[in-house]
Amino acid sequence: MSKRIIESYKKKLSSEEGYVVSRERGLRIALCYPNTHGIGMANLGFHTMYELFNSIPDVVCERVFLPDRAELAEYEKSGTPLMSLETQSKAKHFDVVAFSISFETDYLNMAKMLRLADVPVWAEERDETHPLVIMGGAASFLNPEPIADFTDVIAVGEGEILAFQLVDAIVENDSKEEILLNLAKIGRGFYVPSLYDVIYNDDGTVFDYLPKQIGVPKRVGRAVASVNPKEGTLRRALKHGETELADFLLSQETFCPSTAIWSPEAEMGDRLLVEISRGCSQGCRFCWAGYNYYPPRVVPAKDILTKAREWRSKTNKIGLVSTAVCDHPEISTILRELRAMDYRISVSSLRLDQISDELLDALVESRDQQIAVAPETGSDRLRRVINKNLTNDEIVDICGAVFDRGMLTVKLYMMVGLPTETDEDLDEMFVLVERIKDRMLEAGKKFGRAGKIIPSLNGFVPKPNTPLQWDAICDERELKRRIKYVCKGLSRIPNVEVRYMSSRIAHEQALYSSGDRTVSRAIDAAARLGGDLARALRETGIDAAFHTSRDRSYDEFLPWSIVDSGLSFEFLKTEHEKARESLSSLPCPAVEKCTTCGVCPSTWLADAPEGLIQIQPLKIQQALAAAI
Ligand code: SF4
Repeated sequence: MSKRIIESYKKKLSSEEGYVVSRERGLRIALCYPNTHGIGMANLGFHTMYELFNSIPDVVCERVFLPDRAELAEYEKSGTPLMSLETQSKAKHFDVVAFSISFETDYLNMAKMLRLADVPVWAEERDETHPLVIMGGAASFLNPEPIADFTDVIAVGEGEILAFQLVDAIVENDSKEEILLNLAKIGRGFYVPSLYDVIYNDDGTVFDYLPKQIGVPKRVGRAVASVNPKEGTLRRALKHGETELADFLLSQETFCPSTAIWSPEAEMGDRLLVEISRGCSQGCRFCWAGYNYYPPRVVPAKDILTKAREWRSKTNKIGLVSTAVCDHPEISTILRELRAMDYRISVSSLRLDQISDELLDALVESRDQQIAVAPETGSDRLRRVINKNLTNDEIVDICGAVFDRGMLTVKLYMMVGLPTETDEDLDEMFVLVERIKDRMLEAGKKFGRAGKIIPSLNGFVPKPNTPLQWDAICDERELKRRIKYVCKGLSRIPNVEVRYMSSRIAHEQALYSSGDRTVSRAIDAAARLGGDLARALRETGIDAAFHTSRDRSYDEFLPWSIVDSGLSFEFLKTEHEKARESLSSLPCPAVEKCTTCGVCPSTWLADAPEGLIQIQPLKIQQALAAAI
């Protein structure tokens, strides 16, 4: 054991508050974040899982991170196996090693951490003496296949449900075999890759997944946390003045995902992060978060404000985490009360169509955040392709509202390589940015200064379980050309500072998000080769283009189909066809009895066997029935 690493960990702990140290309890979980402490502690999902696991009697959960550069050198020099932060215990001695993975790009770090922990990377090489290795988080249930062979169990869905079921299964079964089989048989929420044979067609595409044991389902359903009142139900109740129903929904006790550990040295560690809603109603066709967190749900204002009050003595900064902040039916109350508490408010993302005056006022007042908005493209036609229902005129007006408040710098998220994109579409990006810049200069006269427009270009990466999942990513060379073309065009505009992601990184992301089980070999090799994916692909003979760069037919069995996200094939296909015709669709209405995309009938309102998911609480059903 290296004393230097122990000292470094103790120093980190000395600046933190709220972590749990206990050697008393039974089940020990090493919760791993596949990146450094500074980055991991900015991840709200990681905080949430830490709080959930530690809230279960008989469980103690500690954190494990990818060592930073200095720690890594020390780990390698001393031969110390990877340790937990709280008690500096070896990760390999925990009962469970659970990774929380939000981004596919962290897969390499995950493999590296297993190796550092001295835990065999491949599931088939582990036995009863090794910890159970579990992967959870958004990336892993979007498409679990590229990491399937590393993993004993993949959590498919949301932690609020799955943490408890997982612990029950581990505590109540004796052998690893029994744990895995019982989890797999639940049918929703737990995917055990070793209990399936993957059958391939001659052309290398997946033919099917065959369960190896009786009772193991053909597809694994996504578990949806449904204790929160539906956004639409609450919104309608408030709109129609159904105060009794609204009060009832709002009085339900809701787990409010928020910062669990005060960690001021981490990124954003000096603020309270609170998830105010999950899922977005808009249905942008490229957005994995929108579709894979359907239906949109909210945390009631009272629970958010209770958290805010608890933390106010520690910090005056609060970050509202949501894909659609202004969709929250009580956003006015939340902002008003937070401002009354003298909080400086920031938001994780701003959806352009929903920016309200009161939110802008709150953000300006907090002086804490550069405004970032996402026009995605400069072409109104392409915006219909991706179902982002906004026009360039509206975008310029919204940016104008930001500039008129004295915030003269905006960041614009843009994508290059969208399906059906032409150079004419890219040229429209120049026109849009020029118009926004002119509007900024006009507003700037009032304040006697000029700001900056910062377009941030990303290559479009087709994501599983979205309507664009069948599309190929734009060819790497062509994507590079387009990014260069846009960068050059935008750089000519004064007061514009362009940032971009390389086409190579976009292609790496596409491989990790759309690959099948064979891709795990490339991940393992790249992790061993210091991140050199090109060499890893050569050495393993994996053809990345096969996974990323071909349009897939509707008949192809997609590798991620092992997960049933609840979205129906017909819905996704129709949305894909509409994209091809540049036709937009209406947003998710988030109302009872809607069957549009298939998620509510198959998850939220499903007559799933008791105990599989928490469906809408009976009391809410009764209150709804009484209100009709
Ligand atoms: S079924 Fe309807 S309400 Fe439910 S998530 Fe889909 S579109 Fe939204």
